[in-house]
Amino acid sequence: MPISLHDPQQAPGALKRLPLRKAAVLFIVAVSLCLSGLLYLQLEQSQRQDLAVAQAASSNLTRAMAQQAEDTFLAADLVMTSLVDWIEDDGYGAVQKPRLQRIFARRAQQLTQLHGIFLFDREGQWVITSFAELPRGNGVADREYFKFHQQNASTLAHIGPAIRSRENGEWIIPISKRINDRAGNFEGVLLAGIKMSYFDQFFKSFSLDDNGIMFLALTDGTLLARRPFDESLIGTSVARGQIFQTLLPNAPAGTAMLNSYVDGTERLYGYRQLASYPLLVSAATSRDTILKGWSERAFQSSVIVALVILGVGLFGWVFIHQVRNGERIEKNLRKAQRALEQIATHDSLTGLANRRLFERSLEIEFARGARQVSPVSLIMLDIDFFKRYNDAYGHVAGDQCLTQVAQVLRTCCQRKSDLAVRYGGEEFAVLLPDTDINGALAIAGQIRRSVIDKHIVHSGSPTGYLTVSLGCYAFIPSGNDSPEAFIQRADAALYQAKNAGRNRAAVLSLDSGFAELMRSDR
Ligand code: GH3
Ligand code: MG
Ligand code: MG
Repeated sequence: MPISLHDPQQAPGALKRLPLRKAAVLFIVAVSLCLSGLLYLQLEQSQRQDLAVAQAASSNLTRAMAQQAEDTFLAADLVMTSLVDWIEDDGYGAVQKPRLQRIFARRAQQLTQLHGIFLFDREGQWVITSFAELPRGNGVADREYFKFHQQNASTLAHIGPAIRSRENGEWIIPISKRINDRAGNFEGVLLAGIKMSYFDQFFKSFSLDDNGIMFLALTDGTLLARRPFDESLIGTSVARGQIFQTLLPNAPAGTAMLNSYVDGTERLYGYRQLASYPLLVSAATSRDTILKGWSERAFQSSVIVALVILGVGLFGWVFIHQVRNGERIEKNLRKAQRALEQIATHDSLTGLANRRLFERSLEIEFARGARQVSPVSLIMLDIDFFKRYNDAYGHVAGDQCLTQVAQVLRTCCQRKSDLAVRYGGEEFAVLLPDTDINGALAIAGQIRRSVIDKHIVHSGSPTGYLTVSLGCYAFIPSGNDSPEAFIQRADAALYQAKNAGRNRAAVLSLDSGFAELMRSDR
């Protein structure tokens, strides 16, 4: 086709729309990812903050516990040290006994943490206690603390595993000292029992969650006191726990998030070893409790972000839907426009270009020919004795005949720039850009022969078949040429062909003057 009049303008539209839809999807995905990322960062940061606050609180709590334990044992230790000094100096004969008993009773009363004070002789038998009456029984020679002092020359205080008092069955933590005679030989043991309930009450004075744990243990892992109190655990070893296994060997105090090897619960453990005694305190709060507030905030924020993402997604879906609708409408419009363009520029019977398109093409090709100094040719074609054909076979057959001639034109005009036109009734035109008169005559001859080759029976024609006459004209456009004159000259050539007997192609030469027949393809 020589012109692009009916070129559907769909390419720019399609190019514009597709990225818009992609951009919308990308935008929604990016917004969702950004929101999710921000939420994640914010939650992660606030979780870290909550854990840091809990760590500080845990550290403070264990420091307070350590201080309290230290004070408790130190007070008992000091009392015992002075008592041991007296006993070692004065002995505990019958003379000293009543006085010592009074002092024992007074000291036990003064120190609320004390269950009682007990003096044992070399065999582990009660000699004096802070209680009014001496217990009856086999003595304490089997007790761990007694054996310890018996075998150990150290005069420092010894803290042993918790025991049940043989006095009244109360749980006590024994702190004991060795008593020597003047020669330094083992003379007995002085023992102060510290009430486990004293630690219980202290532990209970702190607010701790249901899963929280506080305990006091010997540094070898033996449990002395615990919140929540569980009698079966007292005296057992927690040495296998991570605090004793990995943390304590590295630092005397610290905090760590650990899984309890007892119940599997994840807790933040704080621990601290006492400076003066082989004791360790620890407090643990479950991770769930620490992060309870955070979990609630996280849930709320997540719901809000999810709703926003949902909203953005919904909006995006509607937006994309509308873009798609717009695209569909535009596609339909373009289709309708193309159909209209086709109707406006083409002949409905033959499908060839109509005169409107022919006239526009002439303008364009004249301009191109002038620019490129290249010839433009025109063939005018008229069916011979077509009136008779109509009369003989009817108009419907006549129309079919026109369609067949149009088909011939189409097959003979193979070049893209060639334009076959239904000029009027049974007249056709073929515009041949960049074609000289010889080329035009050759094509005209080819058309004429092809029509004959169709063997369309025509009783009114002298040949017995349908034939056509063709007039050719060619010239090199100069810039301001008249299309009408161009058509008239081709028409004149056609007139000559008719006059010369029809069924032929004729040529006009400009040099030889208007309407002068130069050559014919016959
Ligand atoms: P000539 O060889 O001199 O051209 O003789 P002719 O009978 O073809 O004469 P002319 O070219 O004047 O004929 C025009 C006839 O073409 C008139 C009409 O019957 C017929 N015709 C024109 N347009 C159509 C059409 O669209 N369909 C049909 N079936 N016939 C048409
Ligand atoms: Mg005619
Ligand atoms: Mg005719």
